[in-house]
Order: sequence, then C-alpha cells, then structure tokens
Amino acid sequence: MNEENQKRQDQQEIQKSKTAPNTADKTLKPSVTNVRYSKAALQKSNKKTVLKASDHGAVFVKRHAYNPENATQLSSTKIVGPIERISETDQGFHKAARGIYGEQVIKAIVKLGGKHPLMAALFTMSHAIGAPNFVDGPVRAEKLPLPPKDLLATHIKDLGMFLGASEVGVGLMPPHAFYSEKGPQVGQGPYDASKTTPITNTHKYAIGIIVDQSLPTITSSTGFDGISSTQSYMAYLNSGMIACCIAAYIRNLGYSARAHHCGNYELIIPPVMVACGLAEMTRTGECVAHPRLGFRFKSAAVTTDMPMEPDKPISFGAREFCVTCKKCADECPSGAISHDDQPIIHNGYEKWNTNVQKCTTFRVSNKNGAMCGRCMKVCPWNNKEESWFHSVGVAAASKSQLAARLLKNMDDFFGYGTEVIEENKWWLEWPELF
Ligand code: SF4
Ligand code: SF4
Repeated sequence: MNEENQKRQDQQEIQKSKTAPNTADKTLKPSVTNVRYSKAALQKSNKKTVLKASDHGAVFVKRHAYNPENATQLSSTKIVGPIERISETDQGFHKAARGIYGEQVIKAIVKLGGKHPLMAALFTMSHAIGAPNFVDGPVRAEKLPLPPKDLLATHIKDLGMFLGASEVGVGLMPPHAFYSEKGPQVGQGPYDASKTTPITNTHKYAIGIIVDQSLPTITSSTGFDGISSTQSYMAYLNSGMIACCIAAYIRNLGYSARAHHCGNYELIIPPVMVACGLAEMTRTGECVAHPRLGFRFKSAAVTTDMPMEPDKPISFGAREFCVTCKKCADECPSGAISHDDQPIIHNGYEKWNTNVQKCTTFRVSNKNGAMCGRCMKVCPWNNKEESWFHSVGVAAASKSQLAARLLKNMDDFFGYGTEVIEENKWWLEWPELF
C-alpha cells in the first residue's frame, strides 16, 4: 500500500471510530442473566475455602457464639457493661497530634510520614488510597443475584486470598467498634481537632483482611530500628488495597460497602478482627494475635450490608498464655505494657492495662528508628520457624497454662524473638535521618 492509500485508510478508520455507537455503558452494566455460579462452587461447604484461608498451624482453636446485640463475650474477652463508642480523636496517635502528650511529640508526629525514605513512599501510597472515592462509592442500582450466604462468605474469603491476603474472615460487625466521630488525618501537617464528622455507618457485616509483615524482615530487625514502620506500612498498604477492591466489588454487586484501612478508618480494627474469627486479644491491650502469625500483621476491613454467613470468633488460649508469658512487657522499650496478673475492666469490657501514652510517645519520637514493633517481634505466637518442637509447643500452649510456661521458657532458651539474624537483612538504613 502506498503512502497516499495508507493515509486515506487511516482517515476512514478515525471517522468510523467517531461515529461508532458507545458500548461502554453496556459493558459496565452486565445483564443479570449473565451472572452464573459454578456448580462446583455451589456444592462447596463454607468450612473450606479453595485458597486456604484459616491456616492456624498446629494450634487448637475453639469457636465461640457471638450476638452483637446481646454479647457477654467476644472470643475470650468478657463484656460486662455497655461499651461506649469513642471518637477517633481519642485514639493514641490523634491524642499525640492534639498535643495531649506534649510539644515534643507534636513536633515528631508532624514529621512521622517522612522519617524513613522507604516508609515515606509506603505512607504516601497508604494515605492516597484513603481518598473518599477509594474507600467508598456509588452502589449499583440493580442488585445482582447472590449465591447462598455460606457460599458467598467462602467466595469473599477466597477473593481476599486471591488478592494477596494472608487470612480473611467474615463476621458480624460489633456496633461499639464504629467510632462515634471521625477525626482529621494525622502525620500530614497541622492537626485541627475541630474538624470532626459524625459516623453514621450501620453496616451489619464485616470482612477482616490481614497481611503478614514478613518473617525474614522482623527476624533481621530489633523491632524498633529503621525498617520497623516500613514493615507496618507495607502490610497497611496491601491490606488497604485489598479492602478497597473488595468493597468496590460488593458495590458492583448492588450492596453498600465501605473499606477501612490506615488511610481512612471509621472503626477500631482489633475488635473487628476478633469478631471476624481471625484473632484473640493480648496483653498489649492494643494488638490481637492470630494463632500462627501472632500479631505480625496489619489489617484492614470492609463493612457492608451484603448478607453473608459469619465466622464465629476464635480463641486458642492466648488470654491464659498472656497471664504467664509477659515477654512483651519485659521487652517493651517504653515500659508501656503492664506486668499485671489480670486484665482490668475498661469501658465495659476486659482489657490489659496498657499505657498508650508511653507507647505512642516512644513510637513517634524513637531516636533509633521509625516507630516500634518490639512486642510483635518477641511474642511467642509469632511463629518463628516450621520446626516440630515449635509446633508441639504452640499446640500444647493453646491447651494448658503449664504448657504455656514451658513454651515461653523454650522460646527464651532458643532466643526466639530477641534474635537479630543479619543474613536476613535486605534493607538499607539511613541513620542520619533520625
Ligand atoms: S510498640 Fe514498642 S513501645 Fe509500643 S507497646 Fe509494643 S514494644 Fe512497647
Ligand atoms: S508476648 Fe506473651 S504476654 Fe505478650 S502478647 Fe505475646 S503471649 Fe501475650
């Protein structure tokens, strides 16, 4: 074809594309009759997900009933009275930004997001996906047909695993876990405490998504050096992206859904993870432990009105183990974790008495690194290796307190948790930035 003919043909193609009918709307709104569920999927029990969520390793796990309207217990946590919803501005980092922990902490928190070059990149991305149109959006007017509730829960957990989660659970949303009001962003310039908005979310279902913070990385770190917050933000970002995708998918099915992650929460994450059957409360008072990962993870959630069969909350002996262990309290560089023998009652529920001010102050103004996760690193539930004696140890510890003492001693004997394995270190440090 000569140049002249080629030009003519290009012009004709351009003209044709301009006058062609726009089919984009049709592809965005598939006909309801196009939705099919595979026969194999319909026959599958919700007890087993294809992509293997709920890998508890050797640990014995019990399931507990949970009725959010009338609960006296959530997993092993006793509920004794009405639990008041709290304002997001009363959360530790928000209190620090409000100046309640002193001027030095305010100065440190303003610089928090840029403290380490790698953490700064992940921090920026995590907050970018916190934009209102990432966490929420329009719901398809026409509801697509759904499979039975148990299959739908299985499907959502498989989807979470497909998107890269370490575990996914579906639960009934504890109403008290919604904040009463939303505060301004922290760590992104001056904090104006008057800029709050009431939270009116009443979604009944929650999807909990957890992402492992990387075992090789934590074993090569002290838990409070340069990589510490990078680990956190890697898992915050990835769990947040998964939550945003699942929420958008549910809205495309015709149901309301909102993602909650470190860039934009309307809820307190730990009780939601417990309600979703993923974890149990620990001595730290702020972190919940998974039977295999300990609290070596970050999490995000989706709340929705799409009806699914909820998982029951789990317990695996963590409450009793924490009475004996106290390893996180021994190792905490700020002394924030108590050595008490029993939890206290706080806002109508049982909780270990942690000093949030000490923890937050240390994390934001830590001179030797960026933030802290020493308690996460040393906790014996954070599975350090796939050895038979560790498997036997955690299995026994989930059964009895005597075995818990043995596991703790064994963990100390092998130096698990406190070790720094140099050959696992892949990251660079910029100590001059601190
Ligand atoms: S994060 Fe660090 S300072 Fe805070 S409780 Fe854990 S070990 Fe202590
Ligand atoms: S280190 Fe020990 S006391 Fe602390 S949370 Fe883990 S099991 Fe509980």
